[in-house]
Amino acid sequence: MELSFTRYRIRRECPWKYRLMFVEGRRIPLNPNSSFGLSLHRALEAWLSGGERTLESLREALDGAWLRQGYPDAKDEARWRAKAGRVLDDFHRAEESRRSRTAGVEKEFIWTLGRHEIRGMIDRIDQGPDGAYELVDYKTGSGVPTTAQVAADLQLRFYALGAKRGLGIAPSTLTVDCVAVGERVSAPYDPSGEAALADDLSAAADAIEAGDFKPDTNFCPRCDFRRDCAYSTAR
Ligand code: SF4
Repeated sequence: MELSFTRYRIRRECPWKYRLMFVEGRRIPLNPNSSFGLSLHRALEAWLSGGERTLESLREALDGAWLRQGYPDAKDEARWRAKAGRVLDDFHRAEESRRSRTAGVEKEFIWTLGRHEIRGMIDRIDQGPDGAYELVDYKTGSGVPTTAQVAADLQLRFYALGAKRGLGIAPSTLTVDCVAVGERVSAPYDPSGEAALADDLSAAADAIEAGDFKPDTNFCPRCDFRRDCAYSTAR
């Protein structure tokens, strides 16, 4: 079993949702928020991986990365596209004053956990002047987490474990970069939960392999399949 963060997260939300998506192949259609987020991620990846770090090259990266799907009409798309331009202009300004070195962009890791493989892709790894590593996750929504929420962020802890086991990098800091609102929130990384996380990953992979997809209806009100899922309690 190969377990990514997306698969792990979705199984935690509801095992039946996992089945709908990864066994039956159901897809969640893009909406303005998800399309906007995907475009920004693609633009940042292209720009940070490329040679030049000028504002012009960042704008070109956005042109190349922009997805037109997911918007109700051209007017709405233009509004989101203008917002993306403003967001990346601000991002470029902040980037110019950053003192860290970028040690990796969309950095993939794979590590073996018993019979399973755990894999993921870290948005960005920075290394400060003191040599300490910082894992950065880009968020494109309008919310800004607290420091405590960043410290407890499951995705970042999944990445931190992956960086350690798969890349030999021990991170000191976890950061959520809320690019859409121009705020970064960081927290020191506490590795004390690593064994428990590894056990949970192993249990999730075992359950998926065994075909255990018992619905968890607690997630129904927030589920994209709530309208037509046979087990939904939130139609
Ligand atoms: S609607 Fe409820 S039971 Fe169905 S997949 Fe979503 S969370 Fe699971």
